[in-house]
Amino acid sequence: MSGLDEVRALREAALAQVEAADDADGVERLRIEWLGRKAGRIPALMKAIPSLPPAERGPFGQAVNDLKAAVTARLEARKAALETARPHAAAVDVTLPGRRPAFGRLHPLSRTVREMSDIFGRLGFEVVEGPEVEDEFHNFVGLNIPPAHPARDPLDNYYLGDHVLLRTQTSTVQVRIMESRRPPVRVVAPGRVYRPDTVDAGHSNMFHQLEGLWVDRGVTFADLKGVLSTFARAFFGPAARTKFQPSYFPFTEPSAEMYVSCLLCGGAGCPTCKRSGWIEILGCGMVDPNVFEAVGYDAEAYTGLAFGFGLDRCAMLKYGIHDIRLLFEDDVRFLRQF
Ligand SMILES: [Zn+2]
Repeated sequence: MSGLDEVRALREAALAQVEAADDADGVERLRIEWLGRKAGRIPALMKAIPSLPPAERGPFGQAVNDLKAAVTARLEARKAALETARPHAAAVDVTLPGRRPAFGRLHPLSRTVREMSDIFGRLGFEVVEGPEVEDEFHNFVGLNIPPAHPARDPLDNYYLGDHVLLRTQTSTVQVRIMESRRPPVRVVAPGRVYRPDTVDAGHSNMFHQLEGLWVDRGVTFADLKGVLSTFARAFFGPAARTKFQPSYFPFTEPSAEMYVSCLLCGGAGCPTCKRSGWIEILGCGMVDPNVFEAVGYDAEAYTGLAFGFGLDRCAMLKYGIHDIRLLFEDDVRFLRQF
């Protein structure tokens, strides 16, 4: 084999090896093998030129120079190709298993608020909100609760200042709505309320209520029963029965408590309903004329109905939750169940 044939064979071998390199380290190893100053195969060929017969030195030297240029160019091209190809190849690797997106889910109380808002929305009620930090007028005076009333005891309220407190009921929103609008008014107000209760399975010092108010000409107690019975069947299921029992609240006259037939035992009696078959879920009544006068409504022209209930209790009944504290502990093992 002549020297030129040898160079041609080396060229084919070198280019094939470079093309087969599949990472940057492989390209670098080939660069050292072929071009390395100390032991590279192409520098070794150049060192051999002076020992050739004079007539062969020119063509052989030219062939070795061409070989060096070709290998150098191919090494650079391969290195660049590997760098740009790597991330692209990873992005389209369809053999990798899929990554499941981590979907959250609604808290049982959020679901309850949305479901109730939806039911009352279909009955023509608008959803409104009010502040959680209230003044005494909206929490007491406007609701016909006089200064000496036991509900105003500092031990039963979270006072933040002389006349400012965390609201103890969402009825405050009734007063705010009636101050800012003229009848007809038909609203529900869900939200947080605060009372210094001892925390146990049935009590929390922060819980949720939903308040309803409908004021117009000719609103009667029959409307009250109709709205609340319809709500109970829509929320608890078509088998839910309701009954009303006389009660007393400062801001309604007459007042009543509504009971719904126990969901757990179907009315036969169980520990949850204290063997009565009934569970009290809300207080309601016809708005006291004193409340209308406090906000400047004509108590002779208008009548109104009002109701308010514990959202937490309704959520617990519906979803079978036995301890109110579970609702506020943010334990994902509990929340994942809903
Ligand atoms: Zn029961």
